Amino acid sequence: MGWGIAPLIYSRIIKIKSMEKYQLDNEHYMFGGKGDVWGNTAHIAKSGEPVTMCGRPMLSSNWVAIEGMEHIGCPKCVAAYQQLEADKCVMA
Ligand SMILES: [Zn+2]
Repeated sequence: MGWGIAPLIYSRIIKIKSMEKYQLDNEHYMFGGKGDVWGNTAHIAKSGEPVTMCGRPMLSSNWVAIEGMEHIGCPKCVAAYQQLEADKCVMA
């Protein structure tokens, strides 16, 4: 008892890796400073919010947009965004 859910959790974990820019909806955009461009750790932000989805204050210029990055490398932001998408499916 209790193990039936394990494969479900596992499949959710392996699903969360990274995302590409085209997978974002109109409300969200990529954000990152120079360090994120170099580290390939671009974040996701919702328009109108002062922090990224992983809670990082957006104080610098958006170098991710300036450099035209396509790859979203912050695992926390990707996880938060995918959770949002999952919640949408439940609500619909
Ligand atoms: Zn992030």
